[in-house]
Amino acid sequence: MRNILLLLVLLIVGTWWMRSNERKRNTERMRPPGANDARTTARQALPPAERMVRCSECDTYLPESEAVAGAGGKHFCSGEHRDAYLTREPRA
Ligand SMILES: [Zn+2]
Repeated sequence: MRNILLLLVLLIVGTWWMRSNERKRNTERMRPPGANDARTTARQALPPAERMVRCSECDTYLPESEAVAGAGGKHFCSGEHRDAYLTREPRA
């Protein structure tokens, strides 16, 4: 009787041990340490993709949020270039 009880306990402990091992392996597979973590944080550190616009005066590309908007949907890298463009082509 004692042997059967011991066997039962061993069986329960064995299954529990195997399950906990399997669970550990699964979580490691879902989130591998090291390179993948670094890649994720690097992607999060990058700002979201933004539309690039071209300065009508000097053809420099810059993010839309940093551009100076002109008439007719035109963009400029600075107020000086917008003014220069508008003095050269007043109707633009
Ligand atoms: Zn410019």
